[in-house]
Amino acid sequence: KLSKRLEAVASFIPKGSVLADIGSDHAYLPCYAYLQGMIERGIAGEVVEGPFQSAIQQVRKTELENVIEVRKGDGLEVISPNEVTCITIAGMGGTLIQSILEKGKDKLAGVQTLILQPNIGAKKIRDWLLENGWELVAEQILLDDSRIYEILVAERGKSAKPYSLKKDTYLLVGPFLAKERNDVFVQKWTHELAHWKNIVAQLDVAGQTEANEQKRKELTEKIRLVEEELGIEN
Ligand code: SAM
Repeated sequence: KLSKRLEAVASFIPKGSVLADIGSDHAYLPCYAYLQGMIERGIAGEVVEGPFQSAIQQVRKTELENVIEVRKGDGLEVISPNEVTCITIAGMGGTLIQSILEKGKDKLAGVQTLILQPNIGAKKIRDWLLENGWELVAEQILLDDSRIYEILVAERGKSAKPYSLKKDTYLLVGPFLAKERNDVFVQKWTHELAHWKNIVAQLDVAGQTEANEQKRKELTEKIRLVEEELGIEN
């Protein structure tokens, strides 16, 4: 059975897609998506030998060799332009996901939907999407096995949409997640706030170097933005 997290990722795949799942590990996601009738065919990309072998095993076990192809390589290197219509990248940090997209930009021709599930650092991805003409069309935040995950779905931007939130907040917390503001969202940012305040308190007692002062300023600004978003009055 697929994890709640990957099931949520799969739920955003447009029906009839040709999928590339990058950093696929066991290839659970593309196999599941095919068996559920969500995709026409898929590619599982993996750069590390162990997970690459696991993917091959899983595809064999589910007898999907004809429809799910396992390819070894770094990021989007495993696909050609106009080969797939949807890309999923799940279970990595936002910085890594962002760098995979940036390095593989020329492979995004023909791709209509990006479904990205960063474990941390979603802001990095929102920044990249905005700068590269991809429009955020949906977001989900969920708790699975006591961990919080975010899912970002983007489509090629048609028009530059005006933001419903101030840009910095939009990039940090996500416009759809802020609007929905469910318990997991509040839990996540309440936890982050406590963590940041703790660091600020430590910086206060540490020496007043320029680097500390810079860090303090950044955190104080983030604290202000998130408190404003959560409606916490000071
Ligand atoms: N996507 C699966 C999931 O969400 O459950 C697996 C997540 S696993 C934590 C991350 C996988 O990404 C690892 O198997 C790792 O080898 C792979 N990976 C990391 N960097 C990669 C890259 N640049 N290109 C392809 N795969 C990569």
